[in-house]
Amino acid sequence: MSNANSLEQLEQKQDFIRRHIGPDAAQTQEMLNDIGVESVDALINEIVPADIRLADLPAIEESKTEVQALADLKAVANLNKVNDTYIGLGYFGTLTPNVILRNVLENPGWYTAYTPYQPEIAQGRLESLLNYQQMCIDLTGLDLASASLLDEGTAAAEAMALAKRVSKNKKSNLFFVADDVYPQTIDLVKQRADMFGFDLVIAPAADAVNHDVFGALLQYPGATGEITDIKGLIKDLQAKKGVVAVAADIMSLVMLKSPGELGADAVIGSTQRFGVPMGYGGPHAAFFTTSDKHKRSLPGRIIGVSKDTRGNAALRMAMQTREQHIRREKANSNICTAQVLLANMAAFYAVYHGPEGLKVIANRIHRLADILAAGTTAKGLTPVNSTFFDTLTFDLSSQGKNKDEVVARALANNANLRTDVDGQVAISLDETTTRDDINTLFNILLGEGHGLDVDELDAQIVANGSTSIPAELVRESEFLTHPVFNSYHSETEMLRYIKKLENKDLALNHSMISLGSCTMKLNATAQMIPVSWPEFANMHPFAPVDQAVGYKKMIDELGDWLVELTGYDNISMQPNSGAQGEYAGLIAIHKYHESRGDSHRNICLIPSSAHGTNPASAQMVGMKVVVVDCDKQGNVDMDDLRAKATEMADNLSCIMITYPSTHGVYETTIAEICNIVHDNGGQVYLDGANMNAQVGLTSPGHIGADVSHLNLHKTFAIPHGGGGPGMGPIGVKAHLAPFLPDHALINVNEETAGNGAVSAAPYGSAGILCISYLYVALLGKKGVTDATKYAITNANYLAHKLGQHYPILYSGANGRVAHECIIDLRPIKAETGVTEVDMAKRLMDYGFHAPTMSFPVAGTFMIEPTESESKVELDRFIEAMVSIRNEVTKVGSGEWAADNNPLHNAPHTLADITDTWDRPYSIAQAVFPVPAAAANKFWPTVNRIDDVYGDRNLICSCPAVDTYKD
Ligand SMILES: *Cc1c(COP(=O)(O)O)cnc(C)c1O
Repeated sequence: MSNANSLEQLEQKQDFIRRHIGPDAAQTQEMLNDIGVESVDALINEIVPADIRLADLPAIEESKTEVQALADLKAVANLNKVNDTYIGLGYFGTLTPNVILRNVLENPGWYTAYTPYQPEIAQGRLESLLNYQQMCIDLTGLDLASASLLDEGTAAAEAMALAKRVSKNKKSNLFFVADDVYPQTIDLVKQRADMFGFDLVIAPAADAVNHDVFGALLQYPGATGEITDIKGLIKDLQAKKGVVAVAADIMSLVMLKSPGELGADAVIGSTQRFGVPMGYGGPHAAFFTTSDKHKRSLPGRIIGVSKDTRGNAALRMAMQTREQHIRREKANSNICTAQVLLANMAAFYAVYHGPEGLKVIANRIHRLADILAAGTTAKGLTPVNSTFFDTLTFDLSSQGKNKDEVVARALANNANLRTDVDGQVAISLDETTTRDDINTLFNILLGEGHGLDVDELDAQIVANGSTSIPAELVRESEFLTHPVFNSYHSETEMLRYIKKLENKDLALNHSMISLGSCTMKLNATAQMIPVSWPEFANMHPFAPVDQAVGYKKMIDELGDWLVELTGYDNISMQPNSGAQGEYAGLIAIHKYHESRGDSHRNICLIPSSAHGTNPASAQMVGMKVVVVDCDKQGNVDMDDLRAKATEMADNLSCIMITYPSTHGVYETTIAEICNIVHDNGGQVYLDGANMNAQVGLTSPGHIGADVSHLNLHKTFAIPHGGGGPGMGPIGVKAHLAPFLPDHALINVNEETAGNGAVSAAPYGSAGILCISYLYVALLGKKGVTDATKYAITNANYLAHKLGQHYPILYSGANGRVAHECIIDLRPIKAETGVTEVDMAKRLMDYGFHAPTMSFPVAGTFMIEPTESESKVELDRFIEAMVSIRNEVTKVGSGEWAADNNPLHNAPHTLADITDTWDRPYSIAQAVFPVPAAAANKFWPTVNRIDDVYGDRNLICSCPAVDTYKD
């Protein structure tokens, strides 16, 4: 063939599109034959309503090869200038242990898993998250931790919400924030308070007792570095029924008395400096701990210990009933996707170093700070704070120094200091700081020729002792005493521990994960590689913008592409999850109404099929949720919508609608829905989680919506990380652009200057935007559109094949589905007693993760194959589902007893088959039900887990030490 092809044609055949899209031409033809349609385009024309179709391919670039795309992005990365960072404020240099970098952060076994909704095949990351919770519990000194929130700022806002829920001071509407809380946290809490309708006082911490508050937020150590004894203050506030949350620095807690011991009700903070690169703001995991009595109010996911059917300990997400899907607008928070991968990294960091290793790291950091303070003080430049862990603040103007000169010397030495306070600089040290760095800092602060010697100063401190941590605040309690933190300190042991946990988890590198609405597509290796490039990984979010030119270029370019693909006018990259995007979008809508004198518009229409985060987010901005019915086909009931929109027209704020619907159908009435809402004065929030069925074919802007979030961790290839990270940027029409989020320290856009923030960092989890950037660059205009077409083709092939064995619950006017389909398992349950849970667990025996279960309809599976699965894999899944259907028949006919059959007993473990086998089916039937399952066997490591037991007996920490002795 080569002779007949030009060089250009040969190169085209090497494009990345064929690597991303699962089915090749022959497989595609076979699928089309089965579906009974001529071509992919003919199928798409049948399915996507003509009136919303785009005429042309999107105006973005052509696809690039991996080599080219990576080379081009490297050139962009090189525009970043990565200085030594002393800015602090919750972001620090850190040394990611290489064994964790390569085997967790860069390992698809960890980064391609989903939230552990099927815990029997997720015991590895559940164990790691339990370690995370234990680590947070130990270091903060409280009873209970959740498994990660999005960032420190949002965790602080969640703490305020918890305070309001649990405070006995019901008549107070006032929350207090100490003025030495990090500025970006204050900014974020301000806006959240505004939306909740709380009053806020920001003042020196000691002033808190002078107010009648339902809660307060303190920082420990404070932003200046000062460590104050807050024990008395906490007690006084609590005596007046205030709930006290403390934002704490995790590394300092290794040496400081824990906030729990000082009496705090809740402790929040970031675990970034436990081995997670700064990434220009994220992703990192925030922590949240509280006392046992507030456990039902804790935001976010909690991992708990339960037992399986053999009575063995087994882990799962606890109290799932509290999640948004059940409690909806009454949920504790809207947090769905969190930061699991990064929480795991931080937990592994603690496991690898152990308590002794952490003490060495923390003591070394503190020693360097002591040396810096001693040296400058000796030369007449005394820090503002006499107590500190790692941060020193210098008031230069009051000490006869010229701040501009100091800052200029810092920049000349490739160093960034904290400079946002007038007349002051602050310096935060971290585990990457060296002795040479301290010498450089002396040069910066004092000018050269200061004559200070780091080793001499060190010797003096060793001889005289240090008083920079007040004696009464020196940590005396032990921490990380569990064996897991004291066993894996050699690299060989650590490597094997990580691998042992990885082996327990089913991720995309084993088999298809067809979770509907979650879009588990290929996370290409090339897209992942730049995440660990130092030019991206080691940038502080508040670095001077002229050092982050590469980031700016990447973010702007990706923003332009997303604007084109969504049909909007502007985009904000700040929200760091889909749910945060909803929150940001609803704020924009609210402020828009307000700007027009319509601040009374507060009704949010939400169809009954909506994702639980929609009502939970609406609640956060003080909107009143009104549910719109769906008809029998799963479509929005247009009569009900029209009636409610007109009836409530005076107060209508918006509708939140998902498109294609969560029922997996392109509603033909979508344009009309937008019109009805607009005609009644409302705005249209289109939940963009299903963008994988739109890109290149239609767009929210084109359809007529005003604002959408994108889940970059769904449509745009950021891996789910076992339950996060994610990114939820929002696109808006021009009239909403002035109301997008901005940032207190880094202005994002002139038009939005002064607006509040929804994330702690200006561009959210900027460090993973390179993944989505490369997704678009590698696929180009044709590839991103093909991705949509093949996602729809694959779903329709599955629906066609499975439809011969299971009822497909909803389909469009033409009998087709969109990019996902729902199979109805309720008739099976009614006839045979076999439940959707039995079938989900049985799929594990076949080597598959179950589809989304019971969302949006109870008793169903929602299946989304994505474009990345080949026909071979789809056929394996179909074979498994058909085989399971045959097993169900045998239960229904009485051949197998209802309480002793492969479905009821699933999943099957090695423990089952090495025990006495007296079941009415063979071992082979249990564990190798089809040849494909045997050929690629995945062994669940525990039997079916008892959820109810775990919720009744809530244990969310590592098992007690003595249980290890058995
Ligand atoms: C995933 C999803 C969300 C929430 O997104 P997160 O990133 O998990 O916060 C919202 N709506 C729909 C329809 C979704 O599928």
